[in-house]
Amino acid sequence: MKLKKTLNVALASLLMSTLFSGFAQAQTNATNPISKKADVILQNGTVYTVNAKRDFAEAIAISDGKIVYVGTNQGVKPYQNSKTKVVDLGGKMVLPGFIDSHSHVTAAVETIFSVNLVGKESREDYLHTIKEFVQKNPNLKGLKGFGWENPVFPGKGPKKEDLDQIVKDIPVVLTSGDHHSVWVNTKALELAGITKDTKNPEGGVIERDDVTGEPTGTLRETAQDLVLGIIADYSEEEYKEGILAYENMAAEKGITSVHLALAVPGSNALKALKALEAEKKLHLKYRVSLATDPAKGPSQVKSLVEERAKLNGPDVQVNSVKVFMDGVIEGGTAALIEPYMDKHNAKPQWDPQVFNETAAALDKAGFAMHVHSVGDAATKETLDGFEYAVEKNGKRDSRHQMTHLQIVQPSDIQRMEKLNVVAVTNPYWFIKSPGYYENIELPYLGEERASSEYPMKSLINNGVKVASASDYPITWEFDPLFGIQVGVTREEFGNTDPKLVLGPEEKASVADLIASFTINGAYASFSDKITGSIEQGKEADLVVIDKNLFKIPSTEIGSAKVLLTMEAGEETFRDATLK
Ligand SMILES: [Zn+2]
Repeated sequence: MKLKKTLNVALASLLMSTLFSGFAQAQTNATNPISKKADVILQNGTVYTVNAKRDFAEAIAISDGKIVYVGTNQGVKPYQNSKTKVVDLGGKMVLPGFIDSHSHVTAAVETIFSVNLVGKESREDYLHTIKEFVQKNPNLKGLKGFGWENPVFPGKGPKKEDLDQIVKDIPVVLTSGDHHSVWVNTKALELAGITKDTKNPEGGVIERDDVTGEPTGTLRETAQDLVLGIIADYSEEEYKEGILAYENMAAEKGITSVHLALAVPGSNALKALKALEAEKKLHLKYRVSLATDPAKGPSQVKSLVEERAKLNGPDVQVNSVKVFMDGVIEGGTAALIEPYMDKHNAKPQWDPQVFNETAAALDKAGFAMHVHSVGDAATKETLDGFEYAVEKNGKRDSRHQMTHLQIVQPSDIQRMEKLNVVAVTNPYWFIKSPGYYENIELPYLGEERASSEYPMKSLINNGVKVASASDYPITWEFDPLFGIQVGVTREEFGNTDPKLVLGPEEKASVADLIASFTINGAYASFSDKITGSIEQGKEADLVVIDKNLFKIPSTEIGSAKVLLTMEAGEETFRDATLK
């Protein structure tokens, strides 16, 4: 009975308009008395709903933070009363709020409380910046910092002696821009007890002097952990400041949901997030991956299940765990099937057997795995583990995710589709950046592999669901509009040389990129019932943009402006120019 009514209504709506087909819901409302007037109406807009049919609409009505109507300017009228706030969009574009499917939100604490080397381009610049910070902060008990780049130190990483010249008596630990290496001074090595006799930990490298074997000051991958504890972590209060700073930046960029890609139970960072949730100060949806340890295997699943139960709340929810399967190309720590051009290679960080058993146990416990996989050998081992989990547990709605995916074998793309794996790509990185591409990726990978890195369109063409992410703070400017532009153009802003387009055959469409930053991100985080598209019944997570992304040249998408961001109907950002 109900079905028939809906069908009739849908037919009627077809007759009324050929432009807007997203009507079934709207007209269903029109035949029922409207019980609830809208708090807010957005009208006269270009609303790209990202619903299953990818419909456009003109108007949205919002009540109690939820979308109660999507349709025409005419159809929204009955929702208005004297208290309704009406926003006339003047044709501007509305999209679902953006979802960043892999970010390290809590790292924003570093922007306030440590030395920032981002954007500095030489060793001298780094040292100058560090010196200034130390002079301004004379009472430090340890110095932390971030943002130095591997291309500044081709071959071997930076040296302890440079830091010793500035700071001798307190430890210095500076994290690289990709977060896969640290640069330390002699004091830090001493406090950590790292000497020439210290063995490289599993999955890590202590860089050494070729002659003496003494550590030289760069620690890569898991070797970073050796110095983790020697400078006190930021306090819960400091993290709270950092998270709120992140929220402001995210709102300006139209983001309404974020996947916190690595959370350590009991850490100050996670405590701060939960404290802000309890204080009702969060204005983003947080989906969290808990850290896993390759050394602990399946035995860690029980405590992860307990942590999940403890942590789940209204804004912060745990659906997944983070797995590091390998490192990064820049550090020579990504696991490749064919060795690097200099003939070295790195192994995946998990023993295959241990990974299989852990994957099966996590899958059975209802965790999605969010796997850092850069090299094709890492991707192979990961997919083997997912396959093993299916063999053991049967096919579940697992939504395992693989992220970064720099070098992928075509046959593995098909396996990803079969296993319903979500690819979490980083369109921000789809460029031939002179520092990285020329100096590192080409010499490390060779022309053929380097030019085929970061596939996106072939994933989509093979039916793999693709979400997008910044990996903030790795991507410092984590603006999704910028990500959409680079995903479509695969070149740097302002580039005019066709040779500097990275894999033109992998260019995805504007619609592909929008879906990756909205509905597919919602799917990856099991939130597609409440967000990711503009549909009746979902939360009003929206972004208003000054230009129609489908109507402007792709090279201008990144310069479009966010005018309004709304999370669950609440304005989290409004540009002064929007009346
Ligand atoms: Zn990350």
